Amino acid sequence: MLQTDLLIIAEAATEKHAENESFKSFLARHDAARIDELVLALDKITTAGIDCTQCGNCCRTLMINVEEGDAARLAAHLNMNIADFENRYVEKSSAGTLAVMNTIPCHFLSDNKCVVYEARPNECREFPGLHKPGFNDRLFATFMHYGRCPIIYNVIEALKVKLDFAG
Ligand code: SF4
Ligand code: SF4
Repeated sequence: MLQTDLLIIAEAATEKHAENESFKSFLARHDAARIDELVLALDKITTAGIDCTQCGNCCRTLMINVEEGDAARLAAHLNMNIADFENRYVEKSSAGTLAVMNTIPCHFLSDNKCVVYEARPNECREFPGLHKPGFNDRLFATFMHYGRCPIIYNVIEALKVKLDFAG
């Protein structure tokens, strides 16, 4: 049974903080290719069982990077020019090298659905990223979202069982 209660998951992140730190060290001692194989299989099962439109927690809580290609695609999707799009929706670092959506929750979340889904930023397409190889290289970032994303939470808890992690 998959856990999708965001409150329970957020509480688990606090309660299991020490356990998860220990699990990160445990994972780092394992063969990275074997971990990728397990995570990929668990991600497939978990993603199929969780309806992101009932959750939307990443869209409500994450700062979303907007790359140049994202801005161009989103502006075209919204029939705006890029400058107007950026003025309205994007905040840039003083050096202009980093651009993020200028609100959290994201402007484009409505009734837990993305209203620019076809044109959404690359980061949104990739999150939570468990399908990508190199899981062990991204432990810090993945566990940072353990208490936020039900897909990550369920995959990690199932991975503990698969690997007979004693805690
Ligand atoms: S662009 Fe869409 S998918 Fe990305 S954070 Fe906003 S609402 Fe979510
Ligand atoms: S990716 Fe994770 S946090 Fe985002 S909507 Fe899906 S389950 Fe929720």
